[in-house]
Formats: sequence, structure tokens, C-alpha cells
Amino acid sequence: MIIVMEPAATQENIQNVIERVEAAGLEAILLRGESRNVIAAIGDKREQVINGWLASPGVERVIPILSPYKLASREASAGATPVRINGSVIGQQKVQVIAGPCAVEDFDSTLDTAEAVKRAGAVGLRGGAYKPRTSPHSFGGLEEEGLKILHEIGKHTGLAIVTEVLGVEHVDLVAGYADVLQVGARNMQNFMLLKALGKIGKPVLLKRGISASVDELLLAAEYIMKGGNSQVILCCRGIRTFETHTRFTLSLSTVAHLKEVTHLPVIADPSHGTGRQSLVPPMAKAAVACGADGLLIEVHPNPERALVDGQQSLTREGFTQLMKELRPVAAAVGRTI
Ligand code: PEP
Ligand code: MN
Repeated sequence: MIIVMEPAATQENIQNVIERVEAAGLEAILLRGESRNVIAAIGDKREQVINGWLASPGVERVIPILSPYKLASREASAGATPVRINGSVIGQQKVQVIAGPCAVEDFDSTLDTAEAVKRAGAVGLRGGAYKPRTSPHSFGGLEEEGLKILHEIGKHTGLAIVTEVLGVEHVDLVAGYADVLQVGARNMQNFMLLKALGKIGKPVLLKRGISASVDELLLAAEYIMKGGNSQVILCCRGIRTFETHTRFTLSLSTVAHLKEVTHLPVIADPSHGTGRQSLVPPMAKAAVACGADGLLIEVHPNPERALVDGQQSLTREGFTQLMKELRPVAAAVGRTI
């Protein structure tokens, strides 16, 4: 951390900061400049010691040098962290695809979707049993009944089950049925939930909040990892901007950026990222081209009749076609799918 002193800072102000730095267990190096002095605090204490420095007399700015996300950062682990979901690994050469309906509606349609996406090459089945809906009057999911359907279909097809957990009180219940627990965009900073997920022995798919910065996403992952669970998959699902031609704005530069700064696997969700069926295939291809380790895609046997998010769901045929078209894209960037 670098502490920049104000031009008018006195010798006493400087000495006071040096003493505080040393009292915090860090080494203080004073760099005297033409117009102002700078104190470099060497050591890895991160944010705990940054807070409050600005209140010291004579301090103008405090600049952290190490990333605040200690566990998720590339500084912590140079190689990629592979996350296992059933027999498959996310974060290695093969791009893994998780597909399925937005919400589990009934056994038969979920099974039809699962079998089709499996045939096309998906390794995971997504589907919400507990849905975070903007309106309390909308369909909120089949709840435990939905979890049972997913679990049954997971056993039958061998697909890894990915489903959302909405609150701390449901963590054990959902973990009993699912292979991967999803934290939805609206819950990315539900810190009690993140802490609880740090204690489970299952991977967590963490979606970026619609108004969250990338650092906030990484710090949310940090909460889960700090609890002891490093099996975290980050998901770029689109953020809210001034733009209205899509439901959200899918920031793919964020996928590439995350691949630079974190060792965790990064996947993209072009369904929620665009909100439009026709835009899902091109953005899925773009995501693979820019380095995504996986895709999360909504598929429904009859999108027109879907209870949730039909407008952005592919048909089973559309999904199969997309998987075919993704293969040469993956190959072009040295990956398989
Ligand atoms: C979902 O994946 O079904 C979902 C609700 O996503 P998000 O939290 O990204 O809106
Ligand atoms: Mn959805």
C-alpha cells in the first residue's frame, strides 16, 4: 500500500503515519519527493489497515497495491483452479455447457430438455426450483418438488444438476439434491448466504450482480473461499446499463479480464445476458472465442409456453444446432466443447 501525504503535511504527520504503519506490523519506507512525500507500507495486511488511514492528518491518498481479493486472485494461485461437477471439470481445456429451462415446470418437460441437451453435449442441467422473481405474483418455482425432479433426472441422465439457492435456510436442502449451487445475480452480495456456502462441500456458481463491479464479484467469491470452499465458478450474465436494446448488457470484456485476474473458472450466460433468443447463439460463440470456460444456456421444449424466460430460451433443436456451431469456434481458440 502506498500512502501519499499532502504537500502541506508536516514532519510530525509523516512520523505519525510511519509509526502507525509499523504498529500494524508492516515495514514503512519513506520516499521523499519534490512536492510531496510518499510512504510505502510493505507487507500483506490489505484492507484492514487501509481503512482509517485517510483520517490521519496530512494523508491525501491511500493506494492499495495487492488486489483486495486475496484468495481469488492470480497472485494467490498462478494456475487455473479446476472445478469438478460430477465427472466433468470446468476450467480446463474443454468448454463445459450447462443448459436447461429457466424454471423446472414439471417432470416430463424437464426430462425432455435434459435428454436433448445431453445428446447435444451438455454436461450439466440447469433449472430453478426456487426462482427469484421481480414480482411476488409471478411463478416462483416448484420448490422442493422441483429439486426432487432435478435430482431424479440427474441420476437418470448423469447430468450435473445446477440450481439456485435463494437463502441461508435452504442451503442444506438444496445441497442435498444439487451438484452445483447457484447464487443468482440478485443475491451476489447476500453475505450470510455466501458465508454459508463457504461451508458446503459442493461447487458454487456465482453470478455477477446486475449492478456489481467486477471487484465486488471477486470479493463475493472471496467470501465463499474464505469459508473453506474454493470450488467457485464465476458467471458473467449481463449488467444493467443505459442501453435498452437488450434486457441486460453482456460484458464479454469482463470474461477476458476475469481470466487475467483470477484463477477461478469463468462462464458466460448469454440467455440472461441478452434476454433475446436470437442473440443467444452469436453471444455464446463470442463468449467461447474470448476465453469463457463454459456457458449457461436456457433451453425449453416450447419457449412460447415457458412459464419463465421463454423469450430468451432456445428450443432443443436450436440448442443442438448451436452446439454444432460452437465446435469450430472452440477449436479456433485451442479448445474443445
Ligand atoms: C437464472 O439463472 O435462472 C437466473 C435467475 O439468473 P440471474 O440470477 O442471472 O438473473
Ligand atoms: Mn431465467
